[in-house]
Amino acid sequence: MISIEFFGAAKTVTGSNYLVKTDLGNFVVDCGMFQGEDVERLNLEPIAYNTKDVDFALLTHSHIDHSGMMPKLVKAGFEGKIYATINTIQITSELLLDSAKLQENAYQRGENYGKYTQVKALVYNTKDAMQTINQFSAVEFDKTFEPIPGIKVTYILAGHILGAASIMVEVEDEGTTKRIAFSGDIGRINSPLIPTFDSNYRFEADYVLMESLYGGQIHVDRHESANRLITIIKETTDNGGSAFIPCFAVQRAQEVLNDIKKAKMGGALGNDLPVWLDSPLAQRVTSIYNKSLQHTEDSPFDFPNLIYVKKFKQSAGLSKQTRQVVLAGSGMADGGRIMNHLMTALENKKNSVIFVGYQAEGTLGRELVEGAKKVLIGTKAVNVNAQIHQLEGFSAHGDTNDYTEWLKRFTNPKLKQIYLVHAEPDRAEALKTHFEEMGINNCYIPSMKETVQL
Ligand SMILES: [Zn+2]
Repeated sequence: MISIEFFGAAKTVTGSNYLVKTDLGNFVVDCGMFQGEDVERLNLEPIAYNTKDVDFALLTHSHIDHSGMMPKLVKAGFEGKIYATINTIQITSELLLDSAKLQENAYQRGENYGKYTQVKALVYNTKDAMQTINQFSAVEFDKTFEPIPGIKVTYILAGHILGAASIMVEVEDEGTTKRIAFSGDIGRINSPLIPTFDSNYRFEADYVLMESLYGGQIHVDRHESANRLITIIKETTDNGGSAFIPCFAVQRAQEVLNDIKKAKMGGALGNDLPVWLDSPLAQRVTSIYNKSLQHTEDSPFDFPNLIYVKKFKQSAGLSKQTRQVVLAGSGMADGGRIMNHLMTALENKKNSVIFVGYQAEGTLGRELVEGAKKVLIGTKAVNVNAQIHQLEGFSAHGDTNDYTEWLKRFTNPKLKQIYLVHAEPDRAEALKTHFEEMGINNCYIPSMKETVQL
């Protein structure tokens, strides 16, 4: 008998965590952080299953909503291996140490946990994160391994971000082999910088768990968004202003650097234009990308007048300078060094702030892209005179077309059920409807803490 219990990313986007129980042993797929006003408190709940009964863990990719609660699992007594690709291990290690440090700092300052709770709590610390990193075990793409006898696991390329995998699991069960495909996050068919999923791959799955974040939606063309980004930078800096780009540390910062590099090489931007990467985390992740991506000549992220900001003092001086580009975290302007820049930069009408990602409800980024004329940063009221832009073509997630292309590799007469996860209910419903229109009628949207028998 095999069962899957959904402890996260079920009728919600974040907190991916699935417990798979079999007669041979049990394992979890991902153990991510819940993010957002309605679910953040779930990070504080004790783990709902006995961690001693978990034999091993599989991690699809480094994003914190998939990896961010692995240290909580370890702290609660999980001693098994955490399998992941080498790039996922490298990036996750950076993210977990960063997350532990942020929690420790907030706790020491007497602040509540996260952004929305009213509770003082430390879910895990640096020691727990270090212990988690010790339990990582590297796997290669396309190489099947057997964590315990009778359970075979293969990681295949998912696209999305560096190291990201979909995971194929084959379990011996009651005299037959049951095959389960876990999508992780699904990349786009046309993915910049990193290789994407292989459309020709085939796996005769009995069950599929798949991301449906952008169910029913089609993305804006990425190439157009990249061109627009360069045009805005050019116009802003030609006019004597500065362009500020709130940026996620993983994949987005590297993509933007690469777009700027191409513009400088092609002459669309001047080589003398200074570009500051003002995020120590993004700098470390860029170095991982740099070492990992095979490039024949020079780095895809290096160009004349790119400066890595090291010290906070140097960062503080940038806000008032003109004719420059500043990339800083966080991507939704709800923390990080970008906050200090915006406090000064928003008042100057010559400046631009360019958002290159999704802006969640309740963040400063969301307020700005919705056209707020005055915002509160910390305790300071700031007039918004700068030009605010939102470019929507940069998503690292697939859209409905990509999902369809991804799924077709697993459809076969034996496919019994497709579980749609990692989405708000309306997006999952939209994807279910889309698949039904194609004649695929076995989609199901599980709820939190629901158990399904395979
Ligand atoms: Zn992701």
